[in-house]
Amino acid sequence: MPEGTTIRAAVCRGVGGPQSIEELVLAAPGPGEVRVRVDACAVCHSDLMYVDGGWTTDFPLVMGHEAAGRVLELGAGVDDLAVGDPVVVSLVRTCGECPACRRGHHVACAGDFSLDERPLLTDAVGEPVAQGLNTGAFAEQVVVHRTQLVAHPEDVPAVSASLLACGVLTGAGSVHNTARVAAGDAVVVVGCGGVGIGALQGARLAGADPIVAVDPLADKRTSALAFGATHAVDPVAGDVAGTLCQATGGRLADHVFVTTANPAALDGAVDLLEPMGALVLVGMPPDGVAFDVDPSLLAAANKRILGSKMGTVRLAEDVPRLLGHYRSGDLELDALVSSTHPLEDIDAAFDEVRRGEVLRTVVLPNGTDPGASP
Ligand SMILES: [Zn+2]
Ligand SMILES: [Zn+2]
Repeated sequence: MPEGTTIRAAVCRGVGGPQSIEELVLAAPGPGEVRVRVDACAVCHSDLMYVDGGWTTDFPLVMGHEAAGRVLELGAGVDDLAVGDPVVVSLVRTCGECPACRRGHHVACAGDFSLDERPLLTDAVGEPVAQGLNTGAFAEQVVVHRTQLVAHPEDVPAVSASLLACGVLTGAGSVHNTARVAAGDAVVVVGCGGVGIGALQGARLAGADPIVAVDPLADKRTSALAFGATHAVDPVAGDVAGTLCQATGGRLADHVFVTTANPAALDGAVDLLEPMGALVLVGMPPDGVAFDVDPSLLAAANKRILGSKMGTVRLAEDVPRLLGHYRSGDLELDALVSSTHPLEDIDAAFDEVRRGEVLRTVVLPNGTDPGASP
């Protein structure tokens, strides 16, 4: 067996799962890396995409990339964190030196990391197990790059802090960073899961009005209204354009955020835009999906289509900004957590997300006491 720490993790060995709880050996952190105890890790649709085969990947692997926990061990050269610090654990890692990083485009970092070049996780027979999406946080502990961590105040519970690692971060970041929504802009958010609620809240923080939430599920529309939407519309039975026009006195949207991976959500999205407006693609559909756009109409109306990977975030700026909104009561995180599960119930947690019933389902890899000190 290689040297390291023995941990329990949810291992997926093929498309569709199931995920089995196995003992793995986690390598020690190298220079610039940190070992973290994972107290909470939310299930994201990206986890489902890999486990269910929507995106191709190699198996076996441990999924989970929307996490929070406490620092256990610092690799060489990490001098701005301390053992015991509570941290948000995200998948975005930045080398700081590649052309993208030098321009501040952290989500496009193309740097090389030692984490990708050595087997970080090893199973009982000595075979390597991959850390899905740079993180592998459906596990008791992870080793990640320092830049994937943001320390947070003690008064933020790990379950809530974890949502700032991907879901809420991505939604709110798409509004603040990708689209740069301004006060008074008319916004539509298509899909009202965890990412969509993040976008709705980001739009509310930016002073957008109206904020029209679109989701086929009545429960999701109800929660959208509670989190800041001014209107909520069923895309099948309702009239999104009509609702916009009524709310704006005849205008359409300045920004349409599609936060779901469902390709049907893209149909007609460009038609909801005013001239100069932007369609922002936040949700990531399965590989190979295409949608029709008439380029002459796009050009003539100066409409834009923007991709938004992880809300175009810079973790060290965006996570503290959103934590500030949370602590002042302007950003809701706690109420987004629909359920929590022990690691053993990982498949049940995934099923909840597959059924689309929940805003965020959070797995507690170390049990039910995420607030405790190490
Ligand atoms: Zn995610
Ligand atoms: Zn880089």
